[in-house]
Amino acid sequence: LGGSISRAIQQMSNATIIDEKALNDCLNEITRALLQSDVQFKLVRDMQTNIKKIVNLDDLAAGHNKRKIIQQAIFNELCKMLDPGKPSFTLKKGKTSVVMFVGLQGSGKTTTCTKYAYYHQKKGWKPALVCADTFRAGAFDQLKQNATKAKIPFYGSYMESDPVKISVEGVERFKKENCDLIIVDTSGRHKQEVALFEEMRQVAEATKPDLVIFVMDSSIGQAAFDQAQAFKQSVAVGAVIVTKMDGHAKGGGALSAVAATKSPVIFIGTGEHMDEFEVFDVKPFVSRLLGMGDWSGFMDKIQEVVPMDQQPELLQKLSEGNFTLRIMYEQFQNLLKMGPIGQIQVFSMLPGFSSELMPKGREKESQAKIKRYMTMMDSMTNEELDSSNPKLMNESRIMRIARGSGRSVRDVMEMLEEYKRLAKIWSKMKGLKIPKKGEMSAL
Ligand code: GDP
Ligand code: MG
Repeated sequence: LGGSISRAIQQMSNATIIDEKALNDCLNEITRALLQSDVQFKLVRDMQTNIKKIVNLDDLAAGHNKRKIIQQAIFNELCKMLDPGKPSFTLKKGKTSVVMFVGLQGSGKTTTCTKYAYYHQKKGWKPALVCADTFRAGAFDQLKQNATKAKIPFYGSYMESDPVKISVEGVERFKKENCDLIIVDTSGRHKQEVALFEEMRQVAEATKPDLVIFVMDSSIGQAAFDQAQAFKQSVAVGAVIVTKMDGHAKGGGALSAVAATKSPVIFIGTGEHMDEFEVFDVKPFVSRLLGMGDWSGFMDKIQEVVPMDQQPELLQKLSEGNFTLRIMYEQFQNLLKMGPIGQIQVFSMLPGFSSELMPKGREKESQAKIKRYMTMMDSMTNEELDSSNPKLMNESRIMRIARGSGRSVRDVMEMLEEYKRLAKIWSKMKGLKIPKKGEMSAL
C-alpha cells in the first residue's frame, strides 16, 4: 500500500514530461492508497481538488522541479488537513484541570488515560485517575492495576453503578488533594448507543471537564468520521488521541477525526505499555500515511551526512529488516565520525531516536556512552554481531562479553536494551523501497 504511493510518485518522477495526464494518474494512484489507509472518501476528494488548484501545470515555469512541487503539495495538503486551526486546551501546572476521556469500548481509553497521566507525572504534574466506567465488569480493576503500576492515585468503586456520582466524587476528592490533572475514564458501550452518549453528556455536565479527549483506535477504518462526529455531538470534544499506531493501520482515520471534531490530534499510542505514547507530530504521521514511513526527511538528511557510497548498502540491509548489532556498530562509527552537526541532523529525523540516544546539550555524555557500547561490542563474536535473533544473547554470552570488555553485566544488558529499542524503530524501515545508487536524488 505505502509502496503504491511511493511508486506513483516514483513513476511520475520517471516521466520526462509532467502533463495533465501524468498528474491525474499520480493523483488517482494516491487517492486509492489513501482510501486504503482509511482516509475518508470526501477528504481524499477535497485534497485532490485542492492539489489541482495549487498545482497549475501551465503556470509552472520551465526548469522548476515540478515533481517536487507536486509531491510537496500533497504532503502539505495532508498536513493542513490534520491542523484544525486552533490548538487544543493547554493544561496549566498548579491549576486543576479535569480531562475526560471518551471513545468506544476497546478503543484504548483506559490504557491511554494511564499513559496520559504517566506522561504528565514524569513532567512534574500531580495527576489522578477516576474510573467512571461502571458498565463493563472489571473496568475498575483494570484502571486500578494500571494506576498502581504508575503510582498514580485513583478513585472508583465496585458497588456504585452511577457513573455520574462516581465521577463527581472522584473529581471532588482529588481537587481537595490538590491534584492538578484529574482524568476521568468513561465507559465505552451501552445496551444502546443513545444511552452511552446520554451518559457521556451527563458525566460531562457534572464534572465540567476543561478538555474532552476522543480516543480512537487507528484500525477502525472508514467508521472514524461518524464515530468521532457522534461523540462530538454529545460532548465538547477538544482533542483526539489515536491508539494502536504500532499495528498495521496507517491511521488515516485521524484525518476524519480531526475533520469531525475540529480538534487536533495530540498524542498517539504506539503499544500496550505505559511509555508507548508519543506526542503527535504531523509530519512523520503524514509520511507514514503516504507510505514513506518516518523516513522521507531522514532520506534527505542521510544523503547530506552519510558518505554516498555507503548508503545504498546500509539502506538495503535495513529495508530487508535485518537490523543487526553489527549495523548498530557501524552506525555508531559513522555517528562518532560525523561531528556534532551531522549527528543531530540525522538523528533528529528519527522519532524516539535523538531524544534518548543523543539528547540535546548532552552530546559529550552520549558520545561516551556510545563508545562504551562499542567497547562491549568489540568483545562480541561475529555470530552475535550478525544475528538478528534476540534469543541468542543468553546469560553466559552476556557474562563473557562483560568479562571481555571489563564492564558489568548490567552495562551489557543496557547496551542490548538500547539495541532492542533501536531495532524496533529501524524495523519500520522494512519493506521501504530503496532507490539504487545514483537514484537517490530522484526521491
Ligand atoms: P477501553 O475499552 O477504551 O478502555 O480500551 P482499553 O484501554 O481497555 O484497551 C483495549 C485493548 O487495546 C487493550 O488490550 C489494550 O492493551 C490495547 N491497547 C490500547 N492502546 C494500545 C496501543 O497503542 N497499542 C496496542 N498495541 N494496544 C493498545
Ligand atoms: Mg476502559
